[in-house]
Amino acid sequence: MGKFIYADNAATTALSPKVLEGMMPYLTTEYANASSLYAFGSAAKEAVEKARNQVAVALGARDNEIYFTAGGSEADNWAIKGYAHAMLKKGKNHIISTKFEHHAVLHTLDALAKQGFEITLLDVHSDGLVRVDELKAAIKDTTGLVTVMYANNEIGTVQPIAEIGAVCREKGVVFHTDAVQAVGNVEIDVKAQNIDMLSLSAHKFHGPKGMGALYIKRGIPFGNLIDGGAQENRRRAGTENTAGIVGTGIAITEAVATMKKRNEKCREISNYIMDNCLKIERSRVNGDRTKRLPGNVNMCFEGVEGESLLLMLDAKGICASSGSACTSGSLDPSHVLLSIGLKHEVAHGSLRLTFSDDNTLDDAKYICEVLPPIIERLRAMSPLWDKIKSEENN
Ligand SMILES: *Cc1c(COP(=O)(O)O)cnc(C)c1O
Repeated sequence: MGKFIYADNAATTALSPKVLEGMMPYLTTEYANASSLYAFGSAAKEAVEKARNQVAVALGARDNEIYFTAGGSEADNWAIKGYAHAMLKKGKNHIISTKFEHHAVLHTLDALAKQGFEITLLDVHSDGLVRVDELKAAIKDTTGLVTVMYANNEIGTVQPIAEIGAVCREKGVVFHTDAVQAVGNVEIDVKAQNIDMLSLSAHKFHGPKGMGALYIKRGIPFGNLIDGGAQENRRRAGTENTAGIVGTGIAITEAVATMKKRNEKCREISNYIMDNCLKIERSRVNGDRTKRLPGNVNMCFEGVEGESLLLMLDAKGICASSGSACTSGSLDPSHVLLSIGLKHEVAHGSLRLTFSDDNTLDDAKYICEVLPPIIERLRAMSPLWDKIKSEENN
């Protein structure tokens, strides 16, 4: 007993001990306001600027193109609303995105639609990938902004970002990407990939919660997020969260440095689970098998209710997720799984397992031991499974 396996790293990750250690001085002795002019304050300011450089280096950006925010949702809101209002001055009011974005993007677009912006949401195909030719065809004279997530938070599929960037560059449209799931797991170079704005969140790569950053390419017209003091180049006022910013810088540096090794380990764990669990009848992997984040497993088991599956896994010490964490508690199946063409009843039986460096192949083996009997038990109680089986026999 006492087994505990954390397999929900797409929801959040554990704070890295190195990050905590780096943050500690700024939570204790180094408490100065980074905007104060005395040496005590300058030290805090230097720490903030060092972290800004660390984020910039990780993305291939310039230091003055990085703005710290209070997380990924804030960065997404700021990027999309900030540029949407600026682009009106150029006579643009059309935004293109996709059906399977995070709610931080989709609900922001809903708010803009109510204000009169025209929104086009591209289909995501059964492989969980956006088609670049469809994006190209959707761009028109009034299009000012394209926002496509780098990697999906539920099914882990990694989008053709450089190709999308190239199309946007060619058409003179600004390109934002929600890279919250990608940073630290995928190699990113905003210049080479023609990315104009990028959102990230520290707690998804072993940094502190409530910390994120937005990269905005120099020269892009942009509204302030918070008016007040001169912090973040006068665009987001408020005394800097020095500890959080320092932690973000350390975490992103560590994530990039360990990416290759971590990815190999995560891929081994994920592949073990997918290969084994696909042996369960009427199971499927959601999203392309290879164009996905190495640590992401997303499967459906027909005739199974996702919520019940999670409770039974929890009883075995396994933390997993079904659909998106933000919609748990609602009865609607995940908009992501519906967007790749799954039927409601199939989408309901989804399981997401997301791994980090802290997981081991033994975790995968344990999961593959306990999962099949749980599914069998749930199916034995399921009227839906009875129906599936009787249709099979006809
Ligand atoms: C987690 C997540 C967010 C939100 O980030 P927060 O820092 O929790 O606000 C946005 N987009 C994606 C793809 C995410 O996975």
